[in-house]
Amino acid sequence: MLPVEAIVLDIEGTTTAVAFATDVLYPYARARLPNYVRQHRDEPAVAAILDEARAAGEVWNDEAVVVRMCHWMERDQKVTPLKELQGLIWEEGYRSGVLTTHLYPDVAPTLAAWHARGLRLYIYSSGSAYAQRLIYGHTVAGDLTPLLSGYFDTRIGHKREVASYRRIAEAIGTPPGRILFLSDVREELDAAREAGWQTLWLVREGLPGLAAAHRRVTRFDQIRL
Ligand SMILES: [Mg+2]
Repeated sequence: MLPVEAIVLDIEGTTTAVAFATDVLYPYARARLPNYVRQHRDEPAVAAILDEARAAGEVWNDEAVVVRMCHWMERDQKVTPLKELQGLIWEEGYRSGVLTTHLYPDVAPTLAAWHARGLRLYIYSSGSAYAQRLIYGHTVAGDLTPLLSGYFDTRIGHKREVASYRRIAEAIGTPPGRILFLSDVREELDAAREAGWQTLWLVREGLPGLAAAHRRVTRFDQIRL
């Protein structure tokens, strides 16, 4: 195997417990969405998001658009204006100190060590790049954004598609064989490998019995480069 020059990290299930999103982030946004819209709807950024949401939901007043967005959230529908509004609500929570991102304890020390060795670190997650910066700017281990060289979201393509990994390799200017992808989802790892990347499967919560289609670790500090 070629020496690794860049490491691309998934967030949920890889650096951060899936439960942090399902039990903390999403309920936080859901509980605050109606009030947030009421308080901020005259601000240009929020007004633009509401316009987009009205068009996407084919509803025409603020009450109805709030109901529609709550409905999308319940069903975990990835609608762009909803994702943007969630980002703004989370920003308020992170900046006020109410929200702090969970990280597995092995993550921050390992990322710092990799960064110190000159490895470039990137995030690739389905949450917006904007939300990724917030998430990594306010973790239990502090602001980790100085360790990161870039953020990719579904604007580069979906995480289960080979083409996304080809585009990321091109964007970061690194030969595919020198990129290592860390994820907890097999289909994502399969796509990355098909693009020529090295892969490691994070099995955080332990799922014995799965075929070892990729090299597996349960913690970052087991990774030898
Ligand atoms: Mg994941």
